[in-house]
Amino acid sequence: MWECRCECGAITYKATDTLTNPDKSMCNECAGKYSAGIARQSAGFVGGTQITKIMDMTPTAANTSGVRGVYYEKRSSKWRARLKFKGKTMSFGSFARFEDAVLARKKAEKIYFGEFLEENGFELKVSEKQ
Ligand SMILES: [Zn+2]
Repeated sequence: MWECRCECGAITYKATDTLTNPDKSMCNECAGKYSAGIARQSAGFVGGTQITKIMDMTPTAANTSGVRGVYYEKRSSKWRARLKFKGKTMSFGSFARFEDAVLARKKAEKIYFGEFLEENGFELKVSEKQ
């Protein structure tokens, strides 16, 4: 048996063949927290925002414009640009021309996603879908 001192101060006794924790001296509680953190990270979560969701710029099935975040509003006969970030949906105006709404959306992506991704060591890749 090995006497292991965890960083939290807990002493655990382990047989050598059970020393499978990422940090071998971790107590069970800390090891659990550690692997939960790793799981979240590999799922692409940073600060509660799922990076993979941001990186995926392909339009959703419900989207009719072909560009994510750009949709046609029948009531006003205008194109609208919006962006969902950190659980909030932001609006970036309405436009007579589809192209202008796309531009507004792309600009917003750069500002909100670009900065956020950069802070977290990612690079924003916006795919142009025609
Ligand atoms: Zn511990």
